Amino acid sequence: GSVFEHVEQAPEDPILGVTVAYNKDPSPIKVNLGVGAYRTEEGKPVILNVVRKAEERLLADRSRYKEYLPITGLADFNKLSAKLIFGKESPALLEKRVATAQCLSGTGSLRVGAEFLAKHYFQRLVFLPAPTWGNHHKIFSNGGLTVKTYRYYDPRTRGLDYQGMVEDIRAAPSGSLILLHACAHNPTGVDPTPEQWEGLRQLIRNKRHLPFFDSAYQGFASGSLDLDALAVRSFVADGGELLVAQSFAKNMGLYGERVGSLSIVCKKEAIATHVESQLKLVIRPMYSNPPIHGASIVATILGDSELYAEWTIELKAMANRIISMRHQLHSAIQARGTPGDWTHILKQIGMFSFTGLNREQVAFMTKEYHIYMTSDGRISMAGLSSKTVPHLADAIHAAVT
Ligand code: PMP
Repeated sequence: GSVFEHVEQAPEDPILGVTVAYNKDPSPIKVNLGVGAYRTEEGKPVILNVVRKAEERLLADRSRYKEYLPITGLADFNKLSAKLIFGKESPALLEKRVATAQCLSGTGSLRVGAEFLAKHYFQRLVFLPAPTWGNHHKIFSNGGLTVKTYRYYDPRTRGLDYQGMVEDIRAAPSGSLILLHACAHNPTGVDPTPEQWEGLRQLIRNKRHLPFFDSAYQGFASGSLDLDALAVRSFVADGGELLVAQSFAKNMGLYGERVGSLSIVCKKEAIATHVESQLKLVIRPMYSNPPIHGASIVATILGDSELYAEWTIELKAMANRIISMRHQLHSAIQARGTPGDWTHILKQIGMFSFTGLNREQVAFMTKEYHIYMTSDGRISMAGLSSKTVPHLADAIHAAVT
């Protein structure tokens, strides 16, 4: 007998499992709208031109080695990554009161943040939006925190339940951790307005809660890196403390390179120094130090004005293609006379559309139309193209009529 006889088959990951099912489907018309990865009009993954250029530079530079990075990663990358989210003139950066560590993309940055907080922060409660990216729940509970939720999405309006959100954040015990999506909320595509952000900022500060921003889509939502950072920057501008997890998976198309960072904004430089020293104690026994290649690519692009400018153009093109898919899908649904109001497809922001399709409708579309998406009705707009929009619109029409 095996000592692992008792080990049961685990369920597939609810998001990545969609791709597993998609790969098994032999149908030539199949479409994968499950995972949030950018595809071209031809349905192909891409490497950004600036990424290629940065890699060529790295390859040509014979003074580079594959040595271990420090525990907190590549110093240049950390500086540039923090500057990208906080802004060049950020007082927190000028006053050197930010501790930044390069981590394993957005996921790893969130996890390191959670473990640091579980060790050093007095309040173990973290409030996540309902719904949220499914992995958040496990990242924070495995990181040692107690997970609760606040109301966020209102299925009736297919918009933000601002009142509910405010009530739940107000009712949370003082000092609670509040997880906020910096922009392009996943899975709903619904973000607070600037006025609502201001209301939330005041409430969170008055209650002495600690905000933890997840910034996985900077530049991908609006096409502007600065606009997509406004919420984070407003919380930095008030002088208060916060955490930010950044990912370069989407905005540089570096999914598999696993490059991201955790920044903790503190009140004083000396505190940030202590915090950074403790981040090392979290990271060292987990994976020792992060990988060098992706961070070198990002640092090369962010540190070179020409490459940076080129990146912003490529990024905007990706964001615009996604926005154009929203318009095409909405028009195609309207053209079919599909019952219901589908304007949320236009209004929602970022990579995903939360269609409002239920589990049964999703199962129907997968079975009959070979369209793959998560069972909550979330579709990746970045996985659509002009060629696949009509097929998706047909499927939606059939599913709801
Ligand atoms: N947060 C959110 C909200 C996300 O959607 C994602 C990616 N799906 C991540 C974090 C982390 O992704 P990664 O670890 O690939 O950077």
